[in-house]
Amino acid sequence: MADTENRPTNFIRNIIDGDLASGKHASTHTRFPPEPNGFLHIGHAKSICLNFGIAQDYKGLCNLRFDDTNPEKEDIDYVHSIQEDVKWLGFDWDGEICYSSSYFDKLYGYAVELIEKGLAYVCFLSPEQAREYRGTLTEPGKNSPHRDTSVEENLALFEKMKNGEFKEGECVLRAKIDMASSFMVLRDPIIYRIRFAHHHQTGDKWCIYPMYDFTHCISDALEGITHSLCTLEFQDNRRLYDWVLENISIECKPQQIEFSRLNLEYTVMSKRKLNDLVENGQVEGWDDPRMPTIAGLRRRGYTPASIREFCKRIGITKQDNMVEMGMLEACIRDDLNENAPRAMAVLDPVKIVIENFDADKVEMLSAPNHPTLDMGERELPFTREIFIEREDFRVEANKKFKRLVLGKEVRLRNAYVIKAERIEEDDAGNITTIFCSYDDETLGKNPADGRKVKGVIHWVSATHCIEAEVRQYDRLFNVPNPAAAEDFTATLNPESLVIIANAKLEPSLANAEAEQGFQFERLGYYSRDNKAETLTFNQTVGLRDSWAKIEKA
Ligand code: ATP
Ligand code: MG
Repeated sequence: MADTENRPTNFIRNIIDGDLASGKHASTHTRFPPEPNGFLHIGHAKSICLNFGIAQDYKGLCNLRFDDTNPEKEDIDYVHSIQEDVKWLGFDWDGEICYSSSYFDKLYGYAVELIEKGLAYVCFLSPEQAREYRGTLTEPGKNSPHRDTSVEENLALFEKMKNGEFKEGECVLRAKIDMASSFMVLRDPIIYRIRFAHHHQTGDKWCIYPMYDFTHCISDALEGITHSLCTLEFQDNRRLYDWVLENISIECKPQQIEFSRLNLEYTVMSKRKLNDLVENGQVEGWDDPRMPTIAGLRRRGYTPASIREFCKRIGITKQDNMVEMGMLEACIRDDLNENAPRAMAVLDPVKIVIENFDADKVEMLSAPNHPTLDMGERELPFTREIFIEREDFRVEANKKFKRLVLGKEVRLRNAYVIKAERIEEDDAGNITTIFCSYDDETLGKNPADGRKVKGVIHWVSATHCIEAEVRQYDRLFNVPNPAAAEDFTATLNPESLVIIANAKLEPSLANAEAEQGFQFERLGYYSRDNKAETLTFNQTVGLRDSWAKIEKA
């Protein structure tokens, strides 16, 4: 037995434990089967962690299979991005990458087998007629007039379909099951349709393409999958999954097990909707840091470990629910709190002149990169002119305001205690400069005479800082469940991105690597953008769960 500590437990793993104990299976073989019609999103991460996680914990196998039976909607770029995202999440597939399209010959053969057994027929009903014949949830369907065509004739017709002798939509191949079944999927479902489309893997070889329900079960069986894990909306399709495998000559009978899909508040998870946002230019692309895609989260500053931890915390059940965004954010916050070095940045600067500090002097102070862990130190240039956040200064304030107030003292983080002596304002009454004095006895210690200085604020040297673009993010949508809106794009949050063009940063940040995360002290967590050519940081997450507060207010 592999180590069982830290392993998640859930109903699927219980089933697997049972199958291994009873000898039904000697080992596990799962698969992750994305359709290459978009980038992967955080919902896919749930499925990835489940399938690859089982392979890891049970020392089994997990395939990556592209479920590519819709040539018009698919693209080779997605095939590449999906592989990159799976690897970035920390997983690797066993063997070669699999494609449903590489089974097209075999699938065709199994369709012929069904026809030969009198279990499939070519149907010429128009889509409207077919809908009428299908019946409803309360009324049985009617048999198609083509249902009793002879085996010989069906074989010839199917061959003609394959050879491109019918027009798109003119006919389909249907399984002959039961038009009165209480499961709509069993009312003679379509298993092949005509599409004169170029396929990213098979080129122009085929003009008939198998349907998902026919393809998926056979692909699983051909790969020797033991447990075929999918989301709840496929519950009814399981009847068809089993029917196909029972009626063709194939040994392997994988077990389909459904779990609930991940829904996350304030975002959408359907690739079609995400694609709309990209196509309409409502986001920068699939990897826009506001997108719930793996590539977007990565660019935003999420780490693979934080996403895996999220998937662990949400668990696997059969209950449909909506997960709070705060849950995802807590995972990255916990990770970065522990692992991200600290740095200082000023986003809305106001200038301070320290009048008793020499104009040409640059004092190099050293500051720890982490408050509790040993991550080394960095140097901070301290100079006569510095920047602090505008909101960290008040002319007057009560005792609750533990920052800089005119006539009072505050500590500059990693540096000295300063006192605000006077201010200079422009004609409009905006403060342009705060003149201060500093106490040169207070570096790393309290004032000698016992004065109490409670507040600590962050700062950067005005003459030695660097400038960068900082992107502040908010929820992409204004409502918890945008998918439920009539027009989900009408619920987009117009303030989801605020760009600060010239933020002031401590000079050490010039060397930040792409995707490296930092805690900008007192501001939040930020990560260097992996695309922009100039120095750019994306806000990953705030220091605290500010949404929870907004919600309760
Ligand atoms: P979408 O509706 O976003 O297009 P999909 O299910 O069509 O998603 P696929 O590429 O077919 O996308 O999904 C690959 C695998 O990921 C499937 O096994 C699917 O069940 C799973 N999956 C997709 N979305 C989610 C989700 N939100 N939560 C959990 N698993 C998901
Ligand atoms: Mg799908």
